[in-house]
Amino acid sequence: MALFPLMRPGCNVVASTRLYGGTIQQFTNTIRTFGWSAKFVDSDDLAAVEAACDAHTRAIFCETIANPGGYISDLPALAAIADRAGVPLIVDNTTVSPYLCRPIEHGATLVVHSATKYLTGNGTVTGGIVVDSGKFDWSASEKFPALSQPEPAYHDLTFHAALGAMAFTFHSIAVGLRDLGMTMNPQGAHYTLMGIETLGLRMQRHVENAQKVAEWLEADPRVEFVTYAGLKSSPYHDRAAQIVPKGAGGLFTLALKGGYDACVKLIDNLKLFSHVANLGDTRSLVIHSASTTHRQLSPEAQIKAGAAPDVVRLSIGIENVEDIIADLDQALAAAVV
Ligand SMILES: *Cc1c(COP(=O)(O)O)cnc(C)c1O
Repeated sequence: MALFPLMRPGCNVVASTRLYGGTIQQFTNTIRTFGWSAKFVDSDDLAAVEAACDAHTRAIFCETIANPGGYISDLPALAAIADRAGVPLIVDNTTVSPYLCRPIEHGATLVVHSATKYLTGNGTVTGGIVVDSGKFDWSASEKFPALSQPEPAYHDLTFHAALGAMAFTFHSIAVGLRDLGMTMNPQGAHYTLMGIETLGLRMQRHVENAQKVAEWLEADPRVEFVTYAGLKSSPYHDRAAQIVPKGAGGLFTLALKGGYDACVKLIDNLKLFSHVANLGDTRSLVIHSASTTHRQLSPEAQIKAGAAPDVVRLSIGIENVEDIIADLDQALAAAVV
């Protein structure tokens, strides 16, 4: 939906390699049927991002914090590259929520969220949100004819001239939602709005718990390493202070001594954690990607995706942190000998 007003057959999006697996799939395969493509680059290699932008690029796409791995995007630097290329920066802000980061303040033009995660907060809804800053000048070039030229799909309305800062949003509703049908159902919207009422409180608890659990795990001899940007050992610790100063989210991975088998045993022995692929739930969640979501990948591809055989992903909930740690402690005792 976010790309639809921007793209035409032959256009591309320059995307970070560190993205949610579903987005990589969509960008690699599904968007090809529209004649669009993605050019994947390491978003920490700013020169490579800049070099990847060509005459057919219509957006740069990254995530605030990408999982697994806890990579934090340098949003101001990517926004500056997007500015020079004359295209919007689109940021998927799902894993931190607007409470921890507001990407528009760091230069993003568009922000997308899976409302399925922290916004709703309890796994009752699948939904998504596209937020436009209203700051992009769609008429500054010939790149965005759906917004800057008469739109044949909507009575030849020139959206930018007629609607100014609301051009992108109205195009998305009048053409995108109308023709592509990704409209949220009313009950889902109701649950999401109720969830958002407690977003701030929940996020405070998520980051407080995640920080304590990550520190406890990092100090445990049964654990090989923990990738949480809130830890001093993280290469993204300094960037966390800049991009997510209130906390580095509730999601991280840990590697276990004992490898694949120990990870499977850990999952089997956890009692408080739910074993699901979701994230951002009030309840603590766990998944061993290598034996589930990333099972079809080769070991090399699993490692590249941050889902090595010895890695488990935790989404830390808002329970009493001592209960979370006690559950991990007893499951680790059963898993790692
Ligand atoms: C889950 C997720 C999505 C997709 O959201 P759905 O609501 O499952 O469609 C997109 N981006 C990120 C970062 C996610 O975690």
